[in-house]
Amino acid sequence: MHKHIARIVLGVLTLMALSSTTFAGGYKNFKVAVYAPARDVNQMGDANWLETRWNEITRQVKVDKIYLETHRDSFVVDEQTIAKARKFFESRGIEVAGGITYTIAESNRFQTFCYTKPEQRAKAKEIAEYTARLFDEVILDDFFFTNCKCESCIKAKGNSSWSEFRVELMKGAAKNLVVGPAKAVNPKVKMVIKYPNWYEHFQGCGFDLEVEPKIFDGIYTGTETRDPVYRDQHLQQYESYLIYRYFENVKPGGNGGGWVDTFDIRYMDRYAEQLWLTMFAKAPEITLFSFGLILRPIPEELRADWHGTGTSFDFNEMMKPIKLADGTTVQPTTMARPAGYALEQVDRFLGKLGKPIGIKSYKPYHSTGEDFLHNYIGMCGIPMDLLPEFPAEANMVFLTESAKFDEAIVQKIKARLIAGKPVMITSGLLKALQGKGIEDIVELRIGDEKAVTKQFLRRRDLRGGNVYESKSEIVIPEIKYLTNDSWEDILCLAGSNGYPILHSADYANSRLYVLTIPDNYGDLYKYPAEVLNQIREVLTRDFYVRLDGPSQVALFVYDNDTFIVESFLPEPVDVKLVIDSRFSKLRDVVSNDELSGEALASQPRGGGPAAPEKTIFSVQLKPDSYRVFKCEQPVATAIR
Ligand SMILES: [Zn+2]
Repeated sequence: MHKHIARIVLGVLTLMALSSTTFAGGYKNFKVAVYAPARDVNQMGDANWLETRWNEITRQVKVDKIYLETHRDSFVVDEQTIAKARKFFESRGIEVAGGITYTIAESNRFQTFCYTKPEQRAKAKEIAEYTARLFDEVILDDFFFTNCKCESCIKAKGNSSWSEFRVELMKGAAKNLVVGPAKAVNPKVKMVIKYPNWYEHFQGCGFDLEVEPKIFDGIYTGTETRDPVYRDQHLQQYESYLIYRYFENVKPGGNGGGWVDTFDIRYMDRYAEQLWLTMFAKAPEITLFSFGLILRPIPEELRADWHGTGTSFDFNEMMKPIKLADGTTVQPTTMARPAGYALEQVDRFLGKLGKPIGIKSYKPYHSTGEDFLHNYIGMCGIPMDLLPEFPAEANMVFLTESAKFDEAIVQKIKARLIAGKPVMITSGLLKALQGKGIEDIVELRIGDEKAVTKQFLRRRDLRGGNVYESKSEIVIPEIKYLTNDSWEDILCLAGSNGYPILHSADYANSRLYVLTIPDNYGDLYKYPAEVLNQIREVLTRDFYVRLDGPSQVALFVYDNDTFIVESFLPEPVDVKLVIDSRFSKLRDVVSNDELSGEALASQPRGGGPAAPEKTIFSVQLKPDSYRVFKCEQPVATAIR
């Protein structure tokens, strides 16, 4: 009887929760899921083993959902064990979904299935059917790709490129071995594909962002970026945000969440950053990988020198006893705690942020070129929004080399310029489009010649003779132009010579900008603040906020006058926030402090149109720390 009432009450509560758009679990703005790989799930048949560990996790981070994996590395969890685990979680009100990792041996250079061998195809299908029979939602972890180059695959490839062959092969596998068979055994099943963080190279191993997201019911995003320098992928921190937004643009409304693991970090802030950058992108769910990894002890060596100075992540704060719902307190023990600490922190303000906005940048499906460059641009304080379709209507468009994969790209650039809308392209795209029509817009030349530089000038202050220096030398490609046909807005000095850094050419009713990208994209961070400020001015001219300052400080802008500014530098940094003059105040959303700014008068130059007035706010950021602001207008005097 009591049980019956409890169930009804629970049902009503669930309905209320849904109607007020809060989540059933602990946090207001997102759900937290934990992914349990097959080897962990296999131990869950032991109720004591599971209960001890689950209690340990949920004392430190609030969890709404568990993914129970059925297969990884040729190992399959039996049905009875899964049934026991499922019962355990459901009795605690935890949402349960299935998971599959299509690997033969992860430790053998990520050995995936071979999708040309009949026996392995049959196995892949069988795993999908087995899992769909047990769950109404199934997610595929990172590995639904193929890197097999066995003789069977070489023969099947024929004259296609590996990318073409594998994209076609995996499209077929998605339909005929995974989604089709899963739906045949369980028509209700929701099939979700999680894509990893190496989006620039997907086609090489058969991931297909064009067709696959339509075959699957949902997609999911690997927002794990780990250490940007020492890890072999060298993924920049900004990607944890950008990739979620990109995949949201690939399948609007169909991107279920972000996914972060505990691997390859040198200080704990890096783990927390990955979690909160995913949330800054407004992901509705975050998956913590994995059940076993978040049970590992908190490593003391992940303390950073700057902890204790008021940074966003503070080791001692994180280690403080946690107050539980029943009033008791417990000491943090495992990696579940830094996750809980980071997520609690951002949950306090995420609801106040609107929809993320950024400079539209176009990356055609299956394209590559200037790999992952958008993340470096994001790290320079320029909000990026990556799209798989050409943003014809956007006020500003930024194009990197990957845009060359669209054969009509030059016509699309021209059409925008004729319509009065500017475009910025990189030196890499310029080089790729030489002889393919770009010279019809402006005659520039770029070859293999390089210049070495550390001195920069802006044309607008040439008379003042200001030279801005980078900390060390940078190697850049040399762009050559025809005098008085196009113009250097920013240039660099190399001996007694000089080359464009930001170049522009008028065409029809607007302007084409060319941005010189150093040979090593990481050298973008060496561009002096004054150089970056002018690049930001051009790109973000329509934004209500602009960053003024050095690189490795990112800006996250939302459509409701709120924004976040985050530093990835290891020392404190002073930046200026340049805000539309219709705002006179900035409010720190976390502390509720009010900041007042300084008005900047407009100074029309060279007879051009006057720039709108701006209000400037000076702000300091601690190492690896962020601040959240809302722009506020002057309070109007009420007239009655
Ligand atoms: Zn093969």
